[in-house]
Amino acid sequence: RAKQHGTGVETYEADADLNRPERLGYGGALREALDCGQLQVHYQPKRDLRTGELAGVEALARWQHPTQGLIPPDSFIPLAEQTGLIRPLTAHVLAAALEQAARWAAAGLRLHVAVNVSARSLHDGSLVDEVVQQLEQTRTPASALELELTESAVMSNPEQAMAVAARLRELGVRMALDDFGTGYSSLAYLRDLPVDVLKIDRSFLQDLSTNCRNVSIVRSVIDLGHNLGMRVVAEGVETPEALDLLQDLGCDQGQGYLFGRPVPAADLVHP
Ligand code: C2E
Ligand code: CA
Ligand code: CA
Ligand code: CA
Repeated sequence: RAKQHGTGVETYEADADLNRPERLGYGGALREALDCGQLQVHYQPKRDLRTGELAGVEALARWQHPTQGLIPPDSFIPLAEQTGLIRPLTAHVLAAALEQAARWAAAGLRLHVAVNVSARSLHDGSLVDEVVQQLEQTRTPASALELELTESAVMSNPEQAMAVAARLRELGVRMALDDFGTGYSSLAYLRDLPVDVLKIDRSFLQDLSTNCRNVSIVRSVIDLGHNLGMRVVAEGVETPEALDLLQDLGCDQGQGYLFGRPVPAADLVHP
């Protein structure tokens, strides 16, 4: 169960049982959550590691459940995928994120907003139309939007993923490969995949001071991404030591608790 503190800082309690979808009444409750505005979007900053500037944000879904409190996405995204609710959920997050990007732009803050796209959304054939429609509705330039595809979502149907990614990229949307290093992608696909950004999975950012293998992996992924002309983002940056190392290795951007947790838009600390 998640706790919402006054500061907007959230922590998840290790109370996995309460978060189990079956305990929450399954799809019906999630449908209701979507209809009743219980599905919220929080934003986590991404920092430019050279300038220290706020480079963008990642939009992350949260379910503000009336009795269970704040439910983390790992508990309801799989449920949404199983029940077909991922399509309206993705549409909801996309709309919220683009409206927020438009508000920031109006306030003189040009922030890239990244939205997560799950396997089902990537492959259900409606994503490109949805994105086009939402960009028009919010009058947001495509260049403000980044879509994060997980490596495993891509690998579940690489050909189709590449086709969808290519069309989105033609629109001017930036494409990122999320959780890189965890999804068994082959280098041949990575070579051909139209993505602009590689996000190193946060599991590789753990124990960097004692785990030299993780350091080697992080270094190799940064070099690989750069050699393929991609920007490299490290997620899960929690310590000044990790930041130091990433800067030494030439990583482009960082995201993690060191810079800020996901928070409602109003609580995002401006540069
Ligand atoms: P993700 O896309 O890999 O998102 C990053 C996750 O890492 C977020 O968890 C974020 O809160 C967490 N995180 C960020 N910095 C740190 C750090 O320094 N240390 C640690 N330990 N964790 C950090 P969150 O918000 O619980 O989201 C979990 C996953 O749920 C996301 O992983 C993403 O796969 C999925 N998700 C979230 N929102 C959406 C959405 O709107 N649509 C879809 N399809 N998936 C979503
Ligand atoms: Ca992500
Ligand atoms: Ca990730
Ligand atoms: Ca992840």
